[in-house]
Amino acid sequence: MSRQPIPSSDSAGSPTSDMKDIALDHVCCILCMGCVETAPDFFAFDEDTDRIVVLHDQAFEEDIREAVNICPKACISLEP
Ligand code: SF4
Repeated sequence: MSRQPIPSSDSAGSPTSDMKDIALDHVCCILCMGCVETAPDFFAFDEDTDRIVVLHDQAFEEDIREAVNICPKACISLEP
């Protein structure tokens, strides 16, 4: 599985993209907490299940770009 950084939206001068569905693959997640630390409004650690939970179904790409790019296992993706 290759890891592709999300391109910056301001490189083309367009201010905002549409909201996209957030998908998190729990199988590949190693619980590094990178997403929780970089986007705490969207990701949290659930102590009951020992899993990362996604707090919102959708996000603007720019709001979770850093979390997607920091994930060492490429477990987070945005779907149109
Ligand atoms: S950054 Fe990726 S590997 Fe780390 S806790 Fe989040 S989903 Fe799991």
